[in-house]
Amino acid sequence: MDFVLVATSGLIFGSFFNVLVDRLSFGKTILGRSNCESCKHELSWNDLIPVISFILLKGKCRYCKKSFSIQYPLSEVFTSVIFVLTWYLSNYFLLGFVREDLFTHILYLTTSGILIVMLLADLRYQIIPDEMQVALGLIGLVKILYVSYFIGGNNYIGIFTNIWSGIVSGAIVMAPLLLVFLITKGRGMGFGDVKLTFVMGLFLGMWQGLGALYIGFVTGGVVGAILLLLKLGGRKTKIPFGPYLILGFYLMIFFEQEVYLIVSRVYGF
Ligand SMILES: [Zn+2]
Repeated sequence: MDFVLVATSGLIFGSFFNVLVDRLSFGKTILGRSNCESCKHELSWNDLIPVISFILLKGKCRYCKKSFSIQYPLSEVFTSVIFVLTWYLSNYFLLGFVREDLFTHILYLTTSGILIVMLLADLRYQIIPDEMQVALGLIGLVKILYVSYFIGGNNYIGIFTNIWSGIVSGAIVMAPLLLVFLITKGRGMGFGDVKLTFVMGLFLGMWQGLGALYIGFVTGGVVGAILLLLKLGGRKTKIPFGPYLILGFYLMIFFEQEVYLIVSRVYGF
């Protein structure tokens, strides 16, 4: 039952995320009905059922017959898969003491949802919307509050210390990319990536944040080298670093131990 509910919500949220990506990336309001990109005809509810509408309409607009991108249903399915995965993984990463901790599930589903919007926006438009950075930072603060107050039983001084240490962690994790950004005068990477590393450190803490950054460097480097060998994209193209950072972020939430194990095997310590 859980599975069906979470998978279905994933499809519906995936459809909402597509709207967020397309509107936030261009600074448009997220309110109001959706229109066909091509003929501007307002889309009705039966044009907007995740995946199903796409299949029934054979991927074309009902009014002007222009094709919709396959990216949209794919993003919906992707969101659904990540939601199910996150739901099960967060069973083992409960922040509270209770076996079925709905708060943890919702916190991590929200986190993965924001990461999905960032990923899609970066892949589609090479933009990471600021609204999503702020939202992820706020979720990070909620997590710090929850862990330090409800689990750690900290008083106000303790909570303040934990928030401050989150901010310092953010600054430390951001430092390497900020340096690259300043040295290359912004030609090496976008400032969105730099901001994301700050949020990463705030949310994950210093060591996990640095781990996520490391995964970003390694996977981004490997893919970049392969693309260079295949002569796809010259050396002058900006490195799309965002998707790799987002991958690192997700892996460090749920696979921290496995990542440490692999890294220690590789370096032999
Ligand atoms: Zn149309």
